[in-house]
Parts: sequence; structure tokens; C-alpha cells
Amino acid sequence: MGRSGDLPRGLVDRYRARDGVWPDDTGCPILHVDMDAFYASAEIRERPELKDLPVVVGGTGNRGVVSSANYLARTFGVRSAMPTNRARALCPKAVFIPPDFALYTAVSAGVMAIFRDFTPLVEPLSLDEAFLDVRGALRRLRMTPGRIGQEIRARVEAEHGMTCSVGVGSTKFVAKLASGLCKPDGMLVVPRTEVLPFLRPLPVGALWGVGKRTEERLVDRGLHTVAELAELPLPRLRRIVGNAQAEHLHSLANGHDPRTVVPETPEKSIGAEETFETDHHDRAVLRRELLRLSERTAGSLRGRGLRGRTVSIKVRFADFSTITRSRTLPLPTDVTQEIYRLACQLLDEQTPPGPVRLIGVRVEQLDDHGGAGDQLTFDEPERGWREADQAADAARAKFGGAAIKPASLLGAAPQRADVTRPRMARD
Ligand SMILES: [Mg+2]
Repeated sequence: MGRSGDLPRGLVDRYRARDGVWPDDTGCPILHVDMDAFYASAEIRERPELKDLPVVVGGTGNRGVVSSANYLARTFGVRSAMPTNRARALCPKAVFIPPDFALYTAVSAGVMAIFRDFTPLVEPLSLDEAFLDVRGALRRLRMTPGRIGQEIRARVEAEHGMTCSVGVGSTKFVAKLASGLCKPDGMLVVPRTEVLPFLRPLPVGALWGVGKRTEERLVDRGLHTVAELAELPLPRLRRIVGNAQAEHLHSLANGHDPRTVVPETPEKSIGAEETFETDHHDRAVLRRELLRLSERTAGSLRGRGLRGRTVSIKVRFADFSTITRSRTLPLPTDVTQEIYRLACQLLDEQTPPGPVRLIGVRVEQLDDHGGAGDQLTFDEPERGWREADQAADAARAKFGGAAIKPASLLGAAPQRADVTRPRMARD
């Protein structure tokens, strides 16, 4: 955030990881990982002879702007977004390099793949930074957030020859501030119980959404620190920055940030649904249809190498009123029986009686279980079902869809008006 100079030095040092020791990271599942001087570091990795020189990546034309400067160049006052001509004047000895986005994209993919070895919940903000939610990884990998942060830093350096900084906190806001304050090549852990002492001395400009103009307006009213803003009665804050922003800033200043890490998944859900020729009351018929739809949905997930955590059913009644009900699993699945079991629960426990004209099954919160593979799930019964599913998939691929069916699907299927294929939603 570039304002760490305004902070009491001891505050940052108190939370910094040092010699393999860091503050209490209980209840701090959010990591913000930010590569240090990313473009410049990538160029130096390609050309090690630049290692001890000031390096500036940016437009080299007359109106070029600095995209990235290594820390040595920064000691001369060179900064991102500065005109390249000004950077040249400040540091004539620097090596100026035009940006090579193909290189940065390739390095970025490698680094993001490391993050995804620890959790599928990776939300990239740009080529060189991402939020990670590691709460599931705590269970699977038996590592705390601080340990994961250190492992990521070690792997990024070993595999890519570049450093990154990691902020560990209970919210996205705190994690992002923390990574900014420990740059370069550091890790900062803000314990859950110390969010307010951490935030209070920060300048109001550190709050997310406070641009230059808002900051000036706040400072004009004598509000310099987060503490001063946090203590201001909300009605007065509303008069200064308007209703919407007042609520937002008041929450952040008091340590509240409800935003979750939203992983980048091209496919958000996969499902299948059926419209019946005639309406059905009979729960046994509906359950059999749920099995058919679960089988189709799970097969589609497996075919794409995806698993999902949330199973939902959709039920449209004869009068066209429609409900959806969903339930979330502790771990993502692509197993027919698991999806079917949840779908039946949702039908039996949360669906009112009545004639049904359409029923559907959908799996959401998908991830591609890239590096976090089978060996990390300890659920043996589930593994048995997965092997059965895989055998069925193989037989189906070889002999066609009729070859293998769960026993309860061998009876007569209800008449269907139309058959919707599994489809992907991009909403
Ligand atoms: Mg960066």
C-alpha cells in the first residue's frame, strides 16, 4: 500500500514472521500472496546478470510509464506508474526493459499452480497476486495458515527464483494490508484477536475504497487514522462520504469484512434436469429420477475432472411454482452416490408435497482438484464409490450408455417430455 512509512515501526515487527516463528494464526484462514516487483523479478530471473543492477520494466517510448521496478531501483525513488523519462532522470544507470507479457503470464501460471496445490480457493487479483482461503487445507494438509504461507514462499523461490510476500489474516482486508506491510520477501500474521490494534494506527487511506479524494475529505475533517474514523458516529460519517461508503468504511474500520475468497472457476455449476410428460406425486418415482440425474451430473463432473461441494435440487410444481434447495459438503465430490444421497435428503426433508412437473440436480462450487488429489481425502467409503463410478464410466465409454445402470434404474423410466443434457452455467 506504499504507506507503511506512516506506521509505527514496532507494529509491523510485532506481527512479522522471523526465524520460523510467527504470531498465533488460529482463525486466520485468508492469505494474500503478492509477488515482489513481479515483472522486474521475472526479467532478472531470465537474465541473472541483472541481479545486482537497478532494473525498470516499462514503456520505453517518450510517453512510457514504469510498470515495475526492482527494489534497488526503488532506492533511487523510481516507482510504478511514474513516467519512464522521470525514472531515467532519477536513475540513469538503471537497465530499462520493455514489458514481456508472455513471460509474465507463463510465470504467473506456474506460481498460481503452486497456490492451488494448497487450496482450490484461489482468487487471482492480477498476474502477480491472489487471495487464498486455506480453511479446507487445514484439515487435508494438517498445516496452519502460517505454515502454508511459509511453504508457498519457499516453493515460489525454489521453483521460480523469485520472492513473494504473504499476509495472513482473518479477513481479506487484513490479509492484503499485511502482505503490503511486509514487502519484500516477508510474511506478516495478524492474529484474529489483534485486528483492531493492527488497524487503528493505520492512515485512513489504507482503507479499501478510499481514494485520494475521499482521503482528502476525511483528513480535512480531522480524520487521519482508522481509529478516528472507527469512533466517528455513523451519521456524521454519512454526511462526509455519503450513505453507501459510510457503511462500508465504518465496517472495515471496525474490523468487519464479510467478503469471501471467490475462486476463479470457468464452470460454476453442472447439472441436469427433466420435465415429465405427466406430473408426478410419487416420491419413489421422484427419487429414481434423482438417481438418474445424479448419475448424469456426476459423470459430467468426472468427465471434466471437476468436483463440487454444493448439491442442489430444483423442483417445479404443477402450478409452475419452483423451489431450489441446497446443501454443502465438507469436501468436494464427483461421486454419484454422494450427490444422490444429498439430493434425496433435500427432497425428503425440504420439499413440500405436491404434483411435480420438473426436477433437477445441480452441483456447484466446483474445483478441478488439480494438485490436491485423492490421497488427501480420508473417506474410505467414498473412495469405494468413486472406483465403482470410474469402472462404470469406463464400461459406458466402451459399450454405450445402456451397459451399466444402478439397479434401481433398471425399472421403467417415467415418461419424459424433453431431456436436457448436462450443461454448464456461466453466471
Ligand atoms: Mg506485486
